[in-house]
Amino acid sequence: MIELLVKTGALDLAAAADSLAARLPEPLKPLAAIAYNYLWSWTPGGHELFADLDQQRWALCARNPVRILHEVSQPRLGHLAVDPGFLNRMRKLADGLAEELQRPVMGGSVTAARPAAFLCAEYAVHPSLPVYSGGLGVLAGDILKAASDMGLPLVAVGMMYRHGYFRQRTDATGWQHEYWVDTDPDLVPGALVTGEDGHPLTVRVPVGDREVVCQIWRVAVGRVPLLLLDTNRPENNHSDRFITSRLYVGDPEIRLDQYSVLGIGGIRALETLGVNPEVVHLNEGHAAFAVLELARAERDRNGLSFAEAFEAARSAVVFTTHTPVPAGNDTYPAAQVANQLAGIAAQLGTGVEELVARGLTHPRASGEPFGMTQFALRTSRCANGVAVRHGKVAREMWRELWPGVESDDVPIGSVTNGAHIPTWLGEPMWALFDRYLPNGWLRDCANPKVWEAVERIPDEELWAARHRQRAALVRMVADRSATERLNRGEPRSYMHAAADTLSPDVLTVGFARRLATYKRLNLLLCDLDRMRAIMGNTERPVQLLIAGKAHPNDAPAKALLAGLFEHRYLPEFAGRLVFLDDYDMNLAAAMVRGCDVWVNLPRPPLEASGTSGMKSSFNGGLQLSVLDGWWPECYDGANGWAISGEIDADHDGQDGRHADAFYELLSQHAVPSYYEREDGLPRRWLGMVRRSLMTAAPRFSATRMVADYATRIYTGAVAERLPL
Ligand SMILES: *Cc1c(COP(=O)(O)O)cnc(C)c1O
Repeated sequence: MIELLVKTGALDLAAAADSLAARLPEPLKPLAAIAYNYLWSWTPGGHELFADLDQQRWALCARNPVRILHEVSQPRLGHLAVDPGFLNRMRKLADGLAEELQRPVMGGSVTAARPAAFLCAEYAVHPSLPVYSGGLGVLAGDILKAASDMGLPLVAVGMMYRHGYFRQRTDATGWQHEYWVDTDPDLVPGALVTGEDGHPLTVRVPVGDREVVCQIWRVAVGRVPLLLLDTNRPENNHSDRFITSRLYVGDPEIRLDQYSVLGIGGIRALETLGVNPEVVHLNEGHAAFAVLELARAERDRNGLSFAEAFEAARSAVVFTTHTPVPAGNDTYPAAQVANQLAGIAAQLGTGVEELVARGLTHPRASGEPFGMTQFALRTSRCANGVAVRHGKVAREMWRELWPGVESDDVPIGSVTNGAHIPTWLGEPMWALFDRYLPNGWLRDCANPKVWEAVERIPDEELWAARHRQRAALVRMVADRSATERLNRGEPRSYMHAAADTLSPDVLTVGFARRLATYKRLNLLLCDLDRMRAIMGNTERPVQLLIAGKAHPNDAPAKALLAGLFEHRYLPEFAGRLVFLDDYDMNLAAAMVRGCDVWVNLPRPPLEASGTSGMKSSFNGGLQLSVLDGWWPECYDGANGWAISGEIDADHDGQDGRHADAFYELLSQHAVPSYYEREDGLPRRWLGMVRRSLMTAAPRFSATRMVADYATRIYTGAVAERLPL
């Protein structure tokens, strides 16, 4: 029972729920406890329960359950307090939560007394907790939820960004503008952790020659406590208060400060809360300074030398690297890092050069920058990439850290990512699985046998569920496209075009991902005439939905988006091509549920994983993707479509071939098979959907991924141990 394991802060959450309950009529008081644990967000009926409080306000509240309970009107509460149907549904969720918190934890090398500590710069648990930007955060959120479902004793640490990640608005030329929205801390479904004196518990983090004070928020993700560090404290000066303001700020000094807070502060927060982790899992390199605080504690506790303390600390750290794109692996001038780490080096009783050297690719070289990934690789006992192919790419990429070792022997393994099925699965497909899969299918979802039952789902029902999910997406997009086009000041005819043309029966293709140039959004329209012919076909049309944010400093990616907008008025596109602003968890969920074909066109080998494709697969979407990231592990020739994943230095030539393959697969394979009907049903298409469900769902579920971490990585399997 993890909630009991980390006692500190549990009472603060309970107190926050009690104070919210005090505002509610007696029969509705259990809603407050439900609101303060995100378990509701992946439990059937949870979303509907809060939405039924007030449909419109639910959207206005950004689906924040605490906020809606503050804002819903008294008459409405009075009405629901005597609605037996509503009260029944509420009690079911409240009982489910209580039961879930009582379930025993799973056995293994991490235990309630010595849990796994998971450190990550971002978490996408739910849109109402906007402390994430994209794939990395979604993966982290999915890991916490699966750990909770499986009873894996795990405590997570991150940062409470007051302004989160940027929101996106495009103008009529397709140029992206960024803005930030304040999070009201009083309405976050979490609580500040206080000490016995009732004041917030704080930790001090050496940042350069200063000490920064952090307070700690606690958020409940099912059974997993998520601790979020926050430097917005009166003891700190203005710039230090800003450290946890924005996720992935451009300013390199603040970024390094964030890494000190997350790594060193994260471990100090665990110490302060009495958590003694068996293993510390760095999810990406941002938290890599954690090893420094672990070593300091070892040294103070056991009177070890620096070298012994460091080695002891290292043997508890495991590291997951996530990006094969060089720019995604932060580096800093060595002198800047030396300044940054001066305070902790003194506390460790060592020279700062000792520490900085571990972040250089060639430790004895001078003038080399310090890399967070290099440092994490050198200071962890094992490391892994996030797909089989990515593991290989990472071995190649980091081989220089192990001079004389062949790249095949570089000690970086892989644990392929997965996605959390209950978070991403649409209700109609969920109902089908409940009906046709064995009882308890969700708990056992990593077992391929469970999914064999997909064969028994009749075509009619599978098609009806897919239709409902597509129709829900099309309704949402029709509405949003009109609003967004109006906001951009577009002509009225264009404003209405998509709302009038989009159809729940038309083959719907989705492309939604971070807009970095290597994702090659431009391939979609690079042969304009061909794409016009495909989308505008009167009998067999295609509609194309696109979303994604470009990093604020990534002008080339922004230019790609603007390039797309140049063609928006073409008659084939005005009604059938929609770019949707502000890609986030909500939009991602709607798109992966509703799209029939999910497209991924990264330049190989730069896609580490591509989890959105997994989410689409669980929902009965089919993949049309370059063989990069997870797709080579899943593609079997009959469960989707593949474009070759070769590495080619001739980018233009490769773009041409890949675009050609994309148009060919879409127009000659996907379109005919979708529109070919027998008794009104696309039987060939549905056969592929079944095949895709059976092959993707068990192996790319977060349950399988977390089981891999628990049994292969957290156990300290000797084979994966990195030599220093
Ligand atoms: C799943 C998800 C991602 C990651 O998807 P990729 O396939 O890696 O591009 C990014 N952002 C959001 C909001 C997601 O839900």
